[in-house]
Amino acid sequence: MIESQLIPRGIKDEKVLEVFRKVPRHEFVPENMRRVAYDDSALPIGSGQTISQPYMVAVMTELLKLKGKENVLEVGTGSGYQAAILAELCRKAYSIERVPELSENAKNILARLGYKNIEFVYGDGSEGYPAGSPYDAIIVTAGCPDIPKPLTDQLAEGGRLILPVGERYFQTLTAATKEKGKLKIEKSIGCVFVPLIGKYGWQV
Ligand code: SAH
Repeated sequence: MIESQLIPRGIKDEKVLEVFRKVPRHEFVPENMRRVAYDDSALPIGSGQTISQPYMVAVMTELLKLKGKENVLEVGTGSGYQAAILAELCRKAYSIERVPELSENAKNILARLGYKNIEFVYGDGSEGYPAGSPYDAIIVTAGCPDIPKPLTDQLAEGGRLILPVGERYFQTLTAATKEKGKLKIEKSIGCVFVPLIGKYGWQV
């Protein structure tokens, strides 16, 4: 996966590549998907949701530019794979999910793998998670119609926000840095994520 998908497509950050070598992706997919866990695609994880394609997880992680001391929020826990990657690269991570079974399942997997610096929250992540804020980095792994305002508010000055923004079935990966209270936005690649459903996302 690393040699054939991530490096040839331009993932360069050695710390990011190292973490992909370490985190066992097969632990995050259903039993019957283990065989294809390292394939170049997103996979179904139940409740109509998916674990993102490895390359997409890597691009988003690289764009966050984590140095190791950050307080991070992930919106859209899903399988918990991205959360494990984040936990390896920051001080503390919060991950919020609107489907309780997925949140519970991810929590169990990460506990089994020994992660202690991650807190799982069940709720509408389009409103962020004020209790853990401010965040040095926020990543949304579901498609947003716009940048949810609460996430901008909960981002620390100088913090990074990475999220897919656009239509319901096609988005543009968007990276932003908060400078003097405002977001400085850069557009990245096209992508397809399941919709962010919630108060500051899609309504259903
Ligand atoms: N990061 C995940 C991929 C998640 S797929 C992984 O590594 O596997 C997107 C997830 O976002 C889905 O599980 C979906 O239920 C969740 N989601 C959608 N809207 C949400 C919201 N408003 N708050 C929290 N989670 C949400």
